[in-house]
Amino acid sequence: MAGFALVALGGNALLRGEGDVSVEAERRTLRGTAEQVVALTAQGWKLLLTHGNGPQVGFDLLRAEVAARAGGFPRIPLDVLGAQTQGSIGYLIAEALERAFQRPGSRRPVAVVVTRVVVDPRDPAFTHPTKPVGPYYSEEEALSLREREGWVVVRQERGWRRVVPSPEPLEVVDLDAIRLLLQEGYLVIAAGGGGIPVVREPDGSLRGVEAVVDKDLTSALLASAFSCDLFLLSTDVPGVALHYRKPGERWLDWLTASEARRYLAEGHFPPGSMGPKIEATLRYLEAGGKEAVITATEEVVRAVRGEAGTHIVPDP
Ligand code: ADP
Ligand code: MG
Repeated sequence: MAGFALVALGGNALLRGEGDVSVEAERRTLRGTAEQVVALTAQGWKLLLTHGNGPQVGFDLLRAEVAARAGGFPRIPLDVLGAQTQGSIGYLIAEALERAFQRPGSRRPVAVVVTRVVVDPRDPAFTHPTKPVGPYYSEEEALSLREREGWVVVRQERGWRRVVPSPEPLEVVDLDAIRLLLQEGYLVIAAGGGGIPVVREPDGSLRGVEAVVDKDLTSALLASAFSCDLFLLSTDVPGVALHYRKPGERWLDWLTASEARRYLAEGHFPPGSMGPKIEATLRYLEAGGKEAVITATEEVVRAVRGEAGTHIVPDP
């Protein structure tokens, strides 16, 4: 039975593999993703799409790095990079969908909304930045960037990286605009990359901040705000496993919110990958959501039919 679904497109819905990172490669990947999405609309699903932007912002930061070295070209702050990637990725998704909508019975108008998300300036993430962004640096470069730009840099296995705060998404600023478009029958693409993080100033105005918001958590906020019947997270694995990539690995078809919470506490879902997805599905279910699904991007249609993916449902 079709209803209203929020589909959060993971990194591999936009780009696959390590090799070709051109826009043409993105277009090729999006063709397959669009087929899945359009098949859902043909089955009667009303859709709100969100998407990641990690690799794309990474490329932008790398380009900025090259430009800065070549001629002191000014860096672009992360909030503006977030807005840029919402526009460029949203444009490519819209293009792929409109092409796939040529099939009869599935056509919908598509709109992309540049989306801001309010975060708390006192969020502990601002004093403990953890989210790595951009290229790897040598120790010398990293320490000089810390000095010059005031960045927090950390040593990782492959080199030094900048880390930025990943605060909690509290409120989607552009919620009413998204709602109006949905009411008018648009398939809406919103909150790309988790949304542009902004803080509310004492006078009520909004100011963008150097941070990134987790796209799964912002997607959960939207799925709850719109009381979506289904919250689907697409990614590059078939679903959720216990003992992932370890002896005794076990893939899960169905689990309840309590089971998911217990496995999360037991450490089956690491921060930065499956952890935020499980956290997001739990928040959605706790807010009254009916069903969350985590599945491979190629299997979205089968997962919605209950034939693939991991389904997380409220406790009986
Ligand atoms: P996306 O970019 O699609 O949002 P992420 O890379 O953030 O995806 O998260 C998906 C990744 O989570 C998978 O590629 C997988 O390697 C990893 N992962 C970690 N733990 C698990 C688990 N228990 N079950 C399934 N995948 C897991
Ligand atoms: Mg992720």
